[in-house]
Amino acid sequence: MDWDALIRDEVAPLVPYAPGLRASEVRTRIGGGEVHKLSSNENPYGPVPAALDAMSAVLPHLNRYPDGSVRALRARLVRHLGVEDRFIAVGNGSNEILRVIANAVLRPGDEVVYAWPSFVVYPMVAQVMGATAVPVPLTADQTHDLDAMLAAVTERTRIVFLCNPNNPTGTYVSRDAMQRFLDALPDTVLVVLDEAYIEYVTAPDFPDGLDFFDGTRPLVVLRTFSKIYSLAALRVGYGIMPEPLIAAVNKVREPFNVNTVAQIAAHYSLDDAAEIERRRLENAAQRDRLYEAFSSLGITFFASEANFVWIHDDDAQELFDLLLAQGVIVRSFGALPALRVGVGSPEDTDATIRAFQRALTQRASSHE
Ligand code: PMP
Repeated sequence: MDWDALIRDEVAPLVPYAPGLRASEVRTRIGGGEVHKLSSNENPYGPVPAALDAMSAVLPHLNRYPDGSVRALRARLVRHLGVEDRFIAVGNGSNEILRVIANAVLRPGDEVVYAWPSFVVYPMVAQVMGATAVPVPLTADQTHDLDAMLAAVTERTRIVFLCNPNNPTGTYVSRDAMQRFLDALPDTVLVVLDEAYIEYVTAPDFPDGLDFFDGTRPLVVLRTFSKIYSLAALRVGYGIMPEPLIAAVNKVREPFNVNTVAQIAAHYSLDDAAEIERRRLENAAQRDRLYEAFSSLGITFFASEANFVWIHDDDAQELFDLLLAQGVIVRSFGALPALRVGVGSPEDTDATIRAFQRALTQRASSHE
C-alpha cells in the first residue's frame, strides 16, 4: 500500500490535538506527591449532585441507543435559553459542532478567519477540509483585533471563528464592539461565536451571543457542559444556529452522537443554578487571588473573564518546567513566551502561588 497516496493531502501536514498532561503522568514523573492539574480549563469540582443521581439511575439502561434527536435535553435548553428547539443542535462536545459545521460549509480554497492565539481547533477543522486558515494576531493587550479581522475577510471567507472570552487569553470583546463587528461583516460569512466559558464571566459589558441571534443572521452561538458544569469526560455541548445550518449539521453528524449519560447529566445540571452561581463567584475570587500574587511577583498577566489566566514570560518553557516539578500543571504554547494558568479550588490557588514563588526564586538563583 502506498500510504502517502491513500491519505488525503490535507490530512498529512496536520498535527494531532495535544491534550494537557494528565495528573497521573505528572505524579509518576515527579515521584509522587500532590498534583494540581490546571492545564485544560476544567472545573475543580465534580458534576452537581442531581446530575450524579440521574446518571446512576440510567446506567442499567445503557443497552439501548441514546435518543438520536436529544429531545429532552433540547426541551430543557429551550427553557434555559429562551431559544426555540428548532435552532438547537447538541454535539459530542462543542468540539463536534465546530467540526460538523466545517464539514458542512467549507470547500477547498475557502478561507477561515480567526484570532491567534485562540482555540487551536479552529485551524484544524478548516485545514482538514482543504480550507485556508487565516490567523489574525491579537492586539498587544491580547484582545481580538476586530478591525484587522474585518480587513482579513475576502470574498473567499466562509467562516469567522470568534472565541469570547478568548481561550487562551481570557480577554473579551464587549457588547458594543461585538455589535459593530457583526454589523460590518458581509452576510456571506458565517460567524461562529464560541462561548465555552461564558458562565464564568463577571464583566457587566460582556455580550450574550444569543442577543444577536435572530434565526436568520448567519451566526452560531456555541456553548458547552465541559467547563462550569464539570461534564468534560462525557462530551456534550451545543450550538444555536439558523435552521438551514441545523439541517446540514444533522446530515453530517453521527446518528447517535450524544450518549445517554451525557444527555441526562446535562439536563439535570441545568437545574442547579445556585451551585453554578457559587462556582462562578468562587472562580472570580480565586482569579483575584492569582492576580494579586502575580502582581506582587512582577509577573505580567492579563485580566480574564474565564477560568484561566494568561501570563507573559520570556522563559515560559523554563517556568513551565519549574512549576511542573512542584506538581502544578499549567499549559505552554510552543514557542509563545506565555503560559495559561488554570483557576481551580482555593487549594489549587494556594499551591499555584507557592509554586510560582519557589519557581521564581529558583530561577533567580540559577541565573546569578
Ligand atoms: N471551545 C473552546 C474555546 C474550548 O476551550 C474548548 C475546550 N477546551 C472547546 C470549544 C471544546 O469543548 P468541548 O468539546 O469539551 O465542549
